[in-house]
Amino acid sequence: MNNFTKAGSGYKCFSTFIPPYVLDSMAKAGIKEAKSTIIQSQYFRENRAENSKKMGLLGAVVPAGRAYVQVFDSQNTQDFQKELKRDQEKKPTPTGDEAVDLTYDYVSKDRDCLKNELNRNSLDNNGMDLICNVHYGENYGNAFWYNGQITLGDGDGEIFTNFAKSLDVIAHELGHGIVENTAKLVYQDQSGALNEHFADVFGTVITQWVENHDADHADWLIGDEIMGADLYGEALRCMSEPGTAYDNKLLGKDPQPAHMKNIYTGTGDNGGVHINSGIMNKAFYLTAVEIETNQAARIWYNALLNLWPTANFKEAFGEIVKAAQILAKNNSVDRDAPQRVRAAFREVGLS
Ligand SMILES: [Zn+2]
Repeated sequence: MNNFTKAGSGYKCFSTFIPPYVLDSMAKAGIKEAKSTIIQSQYFRENRAENSKKMGLLGAVVPAGRAYVQVFDSQNTQDFQKELKRDQEKKPTPTGDEAVDLTYDYVSKDRDCLKNELNRNSLDNNGMDLICNVHYGENYGNAFWYNGQITLGDGDGEIFTNFAKSLDVIAHELGHGIVENTAKLVYQDQSGALNEHFADVFGTVITQWVENHDADHADWLIGDEIMGADLYGEALRCMSEPGTAYDNKLLGKDPQPAHMKNIYTGTGDNGGVHINSGIMNKAFYLTAVEIETNQAARIWYNALLNLWPTANFKEAFGEIVKAAQILAKNNSVDRDAPQRVRAAFREVGLS
């Protein structure tokens, strides 16, 4: 399935948080909501051109450049920007709707961390507004970034809870927005896995900043908060031990490799974009525990600014080492950071 639309100057990817192979496994296990989520995603894909147009026309509710957060309620339809529930200007007070208020809170914190820690002014570094849609679809068990907006489903409450409950899911999706505005990594094969990897890096780093955790105390899990009662204790990805996030009859087994020798070469999942990101995630984790998450985040962010759409793992590794060298020279990271980065990548089979 083609996951790109040519729009203006670049490609827009439609990436969902729950990978297709997980939804397939759930559908095979007879989970009705998984089938419905697949159908709703398909509907979105098939009507993408029309949706883009609608979303574009709806945009720019407040002047650009202010990095305002706006949360809309889709009211369990597949419409975007249906009813404005919270924004900074007209509706700044909590609504009592948990999905609205958590999304507003997490997206605001994400934006503030980008500014304070990375000196980045919103996702495009130009103060773009952060438009969010919650209560999208019916029991929709997924979240996605598309067309400059983050959209979150409610889940069915048993397998997945409301996606707004997870800061790392939200930070992951907003991370796709940063990638789209920087390296524009093509959502296929290794460049696509890099796209997923950088989104996971933003997911964990923003969460660690907001929760005041360091590398040793962070859980390094992505998506653990959205697991409902049936899957309590599982997560979608584990950055410290890729391949161990889940193993059960509903989701199947986490297929992420942690080393180049086990890289997935099949065609599913756009060439393994949610699978092979495990290798890069492990390298980030190994670096962060050595030099702290703050420094690793600065290095990865600077590398992202210099990457290009078709970059592969080896090229990303090269840019990450280069960024570490430049930042070490400026005393922005430890002097031995480049060595630590190299050592981390050696452990996952990249040198
Ligand atoms: Zn993603």
